Amino acid sequence: MLVESAEGTGGTPETAALRVLRRVFGYDAFRGQQEAVIEHVVDGGDAVVLMPTGGGKSLCYQIPALVRPGTGVVVSPLIALMQDQVDALRALGVRAGFINSTLDFDQRRVVEAEFLAGELDLLYLAPERLRLEATTALLDRAKVSLFAIDEAHCVAQWGHDFRPDYLSLSMLGERWPDVPRVALTATATRATHQEIVQRLGLSGARDFVASFDRPNIQYRIVPKNDPKKQLLRFLKEEHPGDAGIVYCLSRNAVERTAEFLCRNGIEAVPYHAGLDAGTRAAHQARFLREDGLVVVATIAFGMGIDKPDVRFVAHLDLPKSVEGYYQETGRAGRDGQPSTAWLAYGLQDVVQQRKMIENGEGDPAFQRRARSHLDAMLSLCETVSCRRGQLLAYFGQAPEEGAAQVSCGNCDTCLSPPESWDGTVPAQMVLSTVVRLKRERGQKFGAGQIVDILLGRRTAKVIQFDHDTLSVFGIGTELGEAEWRGVVRQLIAQGLLEVEGEHGTLVLTDASATVLRGERQVRMRKDPRPAAVRSEAAGGSRQRKGSVPADLPEEARPLFETLRAWRAQQAREQGVPAYVVFHDATLREVAVRRPATLGELGGITGVGEKKLATYGESLLAALAEGAQQDPGAEPVDAEPAGAEPAQTAPAEDGSWAEAVTVPSTPA
Ligand code: ADP
Ligand code: ZN
Repeated sequence: MLVESAEGTGGTPETAALRVLRRVFGYDAFRGQQEAVIEHVVDGGDAVVLMPTGGGKSLCYQIPALVRPGTGVVVSPLIALMQDQVDALRALGVRAGFINSTLDFDQRRVVEAEFLAGELDLLYLAPERLRLEATTALLDRAKVSLFAIDEAHCVAQWGHDFRPDYLSLSMLGERWPDVPRVALTATATRATHQEIVQRLGLSGARDFVASFDRPNIQYRIVPKNDPKKQLLRFLKEEHPGDAGIVYCLSRNAVERTAEFLCRNGIEAVPYHAGLDAGTRAAHQARFLREDGLVVVATIAFGMGIDKPDVRFVAHLDLPKSVEGYYQETGRAGRDGQPSTAWLAYGLQDVVQQRKMIENGEGDPAFQRRARSHLDAMLSLCETVSCRRGQLLAYFGQAPEEGAAQVSCGNCDTCLSPPESWDGTVPAQMVLSTVVRLKRERGQKFGAGQIVDILLGRRTAKVIQFDHDTLSVFGIGTELGEAEWRGVVRQLIAQGLLEVEGEHGTLVLTDASATVLRGERQVRMRKDPRPAAVRSEAAGGSRQRKGSVPADLPEEARPLFETLRAWRAQQAREQGVPAYVVFHDATLREVAVRRPATLGELGGITGVGEKKLATYGESLLAALAEGAQQDPGAEPVDAEPAGAEPAQTAPAEDGSWAEAVTVPSTPA
């Protein structure tokens, strides 16, 4: 089953790979580097594929597995998702199976028999399974067409998802030297890339590195004031009824936030490692199957979740690294539709994370790594230039030369450029307060006390330690509480203050002296007024929506909703996630083009031969019924039926601005 390619310039040459793409997956053309990777692997080459989430990595091994003789073995760390992955492939007519600990003895024997009989195109396995002699012996007894190592960054200790079981995968190349291997990940730092190559013995492999830009994701990092309320407002105004993920650092915060959202009319479920396995699985399954559920989770949630229509990822706590942030936010918008990555970030985050590193476990090398990860994350938060530009630069992907590079037009700093200001004098005030607290009292204090002193507040703690007698007492009344906290936060981020010990004591660094002596200027980011960012960002996303070709014209919306209801019904009957039936993008195209025949339906993106046979008639019937009932589905140039709710702009009621000045107390 080698690749045949037609000659000549007249027609499009159709390789075996392209034929599979069209017939099985229902797509017209390859994206980005897919074709190059597939060709290389089909020819028996090893490959390392670095592509962002949603970039289309799966096809890079699924199609070679379908083209090459034998079974493609996919190593994936997430057994909980294998069933869905296999269901999705079977819905396309691909002969797929998995072996993991959720199968009982008889079920496993069935899959093994299928593999031995050469009846599987793809077999999914967890990495720990490959350590078993029984598994390797099984693989020896039939033809393996390729090994795909998914989530390959799990082999890297530098990364954020290290899994020791991945280390043993280096044996694949030794034991089956003739079977091509393809390692895939959405993590793109050079360090992780090198570790993958080295630890998996892939130095002879060809590297395919895609652009890591996710243009449909709008990146926003906002000052944290009253996080739960900010989140609620974000969800209600920008993502009502949308599916999304809210990340929190602690299990406790996860529980409280999920309850809070439910109390406020948003359907949300918690997910963290402290819940029993049954509850976790149930919540994950609901998220995958239902339209519009919010999962509030620790970072235990999300890897390998390939739900295409996650519309937002919100962080209520600072991620520990840019890698983590990029991975987590990357779970939004796999389908290429407009999505939001929203992070609320404040002084307390910085103090807390620094404390966790200082007091945490791990050898000095580990702590150094953790510190440099955090520093990069802080610098992303404090940047006054384009967030996307900085993210890409972190992954070694400088924006293309040219004028457009300074502004992506779809992140908060581009939509509402923050000013920077000369914060040297306020910095000196903070630093000299720290000096006095240390020198004069021998006691150690955190940020709250310093801000109280500068603002001249006679709190109980200020009086107890006679801090109202210090020369710096009350010298900082020109700035407000929130601004002072911003100054302290940026001093820490810039390495001019350090957090020490379990109480988060602030101490000077070697660099502080130059500021105190007036030898160094301190530039600071002026946090933009949140109201401005929000409305401009929302306006920006509306504008973008109109220009995304895959997006839905108003008059097609009722029909799209009808199709969604039809899809939900199908998914329920078959016990699969809705997206396994059809993706939103496919339903959109159906709602707009309104195919009348099976032939026309087959021409729509995402409708391959198997799905056409399974759902074609039923979908056409639903479409005909919907079009009949719905005046909005009359010919496209007719006036919309007037049932459409007006697009309301976010209210500029000032209550947001109020929230900014509410003094935030450290939790
Ligand atoms: P990744 O694993 O890199 O995150 P996926 O393999 O899940 O990405 O693909 C992301 C989405 O893009 C999926 O919905 C997939 O069906 C779709 N897709 C992939 N390749 C193509 C293509 N060539 N044409 C159209 N859609 C594609
Ligand atoms: Zn930008």
